[in-house]
Amino acid sequence: MTTSASIRERIPFIMRDLARRYLPAGDLRQGETALAKIVAEREDPFLVLISTILSQRTRDEMTEQASQQLFAKYDTPQGIAHADRGDLERLIKPVGFYRQKAGQIQKVSRLLLERHGGVVPGTYEELIELPQVGPKTANCVLVYGFGEPRIPTDTNVHRVSNRLGLVRTKAPEATEQRLVATVPKEYWLLINELFIRFGKDLCRPIGPICPRCSFTEFCRFYPRTKWGKATRRAVRRPQVHRSRRRSLSHD
Ligand code: SF4
Repeated sequence: MTTSASIRERIPFIMRDLARRYLPAGDLRQGETALAKIVAEREDPFLVLISTILSQRTRDEMTEQASQQLFAKYDTPQGIAHADRGDLERLIKPVGFYRQKAGQIQKVSRLLLERHGGVVPGTYEELIELPQVGPKTANCVLVYGFGEPRIPTDTNVHRVSNRLGLVRTKAPEATEQRLVATVPKEYWLLINELFIRFGKDLCRPIGPICPRCSFTEFCRFYPRTKWGKATRRAVRRPQVHRSRRRSLSHD
């Protein structure tokens, strides 16, 4: 599948606009997502890995709260591997499925100690071999933990990419593949942070705040919003008047 010229032109415009809104210095550590905040405090891929596992099927605010509580007491593979399971559950309780996740972070910590000397591996191939690490988690660790350009694709990135017409996909996995083929690599490092921020701030799943958005001209979703419908009605109305005027003049 080839990428149309209009999409190629659209990408720099979108990225510049979002960077101006949410990351004016272009520094991921000044982001607002749970992962960006963790990296701002301490650049440690292990903390990114654990937070990303906690974030699965969970709101970002809850991930941040659970991560802070957990890392205040346990912030190393050794600490989590040998922690009391009930204590881990208590600390990460803000996130969904906290009981399973307590087991999962303990399992991944033990495996890191056994196979990698307690160090998070820095390649996609090794990361994906770890328990509870799928493509999105591996890419998050590479972006936020190692500063490697990748495109972690969650539901926000998926929704925003489809609305902006960058992809036409049904699932985040397909979106990631299309974005990798479409978006120039210079934008990969920030796209996750920027699209998540935009998806929470303006381009919300329900009730997006389109009047504050710069992308109404090409957004695929805008025509279905109340503002888009009102704009179409306003454009059509003068034509109705003109045709009425014509019919009146023939009477
Ligand atoms: S116009 Fe509305 S729906 Fe479209 S990208 Fe902007 S905020 Fe999202």
